Amino acid sequence: MPLPPTSHRPTRAVINLEAIGHNVATLAETAGVELCAVVKADGYGHGAVAVARQALEAGASWLAVALVEEGRSLRQAGIHAPILILSEPPPATAEAMVADNLTATVYTREFAQALGAAARVQRRQAAVHVKADTGMARVGIPETGWESLLVEIAGVDGITITGLQTHLACADETDSSTTQRQLAAFERFVSLAASHQISPRMLHAANTAATLTCPQARYTMVRTGIGIYGLSPSDAVGAAAHGLRPAMTLVSQVSYVKRIAGGTPVSYGHRWVAPDDGWLATVPIGYADGVPRTAGPASTVWLADDRRPIAGSVCMDQLMVWCGTHEPSVGDDVVLFGDGPAPRIEDWARASGTITYEIATSVSSRVPRMWSATLP
Ligand SMILES: *Cc1c(COP(=O)(O)O)cnc(C)c1O
Repeated sequence: MPLPPTSHRPTRAVINLEAIGHNVATLAETAGVELCAVVKADGYGHGAVAVARQALEAGASWLAVALVEEGRSLRQAGIHAPILILSEPPPATAEAMVADNLTATVYTREFAQALGAAARVQRRQAAVHVKADTGMARVGIPETGWESLLVEIAGVDGITITGLQTHLACADETDSSTTQRQLAAFERFVSLAASHQISPRMLHAANTAATLTCPQARYTMVRTGIGIYGLSPSDAVGAAAHGLRPAMTLVSQVSYVKRIAGGTPVSYGHRWVAPDDGWLATVPIGYADGVPRTAGPASTVWLADDRRPIAGSVCMDQLMVWCGTHEPSVGDDVVLFGDGPAPRIEDWARASGTITYEIATSVSSRVPRMWSATLP
């Protein structure tokens, strides 16, 4: 695999943009409605700008991010597509949002007024998508406030309500009863808005899991994040089963090799002991790069055509791999996770008691990203 041009270290994350394009096209076809590619947190660690461009080319019509700063960096990269900010930022950022033509998610009077004021100053009309809380209890207007706040937001000079939205708490679980209750609540919200002549073109609720498993959640747009990276929202909703392909390969190379005797303890705390005489490889990637320290020997890496276990504690900058009777060479590629026969991000998530989202977004900024049009 090619080495990054500016790094002396062989550790890198290779992002397969062709897989991103395939995933976006697959999700868009499944959804049959507009697709908003969620590229917050630097595109779930895959590089927001590269992913956004690829997603737009593959059929996404919207982008979404968490922060105004994230929206701004997409604009600075020359991306003109509509960008939804998924939660309200502090009111002081309203001017920057209007200046960068970022579409706000709104659910408080204070933010609506700040946005209206900024829009009037800049002689623009700010498009907003009002968010209802239908059961996530994170952000969004609770049901008791729907009517009064909808009417109030609609009345703010400088603002146009162009969308209504909610967010699902349990779409990635096998039991769909919470999702059904949330969708029923969202439909009450939409009807209530319509009774006040607020009938915007865009209605959206679905994340990746709902896009894949719950047709009635798709409305006029889906907001897909994890699926465009080819990763599973949960064990109950598998990406591969829906034809999605992982885009990120985290790879390094063997930096040191030694033969150790059976019974030799390895790494901090001596928590792992060689089962036999055999070969041990050291690899320059550790928890400061995003390899979960908690993953332990249940986790394997792909080295010399086999999945081989991590030997002992993952260190900050390095880890050891047990190769048994196989003698590895310095410079051999080591795939921590990826596509094909290599372990998946799903495997790492399971082994370390977390979700794919956390593994992908934890690959740290000191790991160079390389974008390729084809599989690494
Ligand atoms: C992150 C996020 C999404 C995307 O969710 P995935 O499970 O990654 O598809 C959609 N909507 C909101 C409000 C989000 O915060």
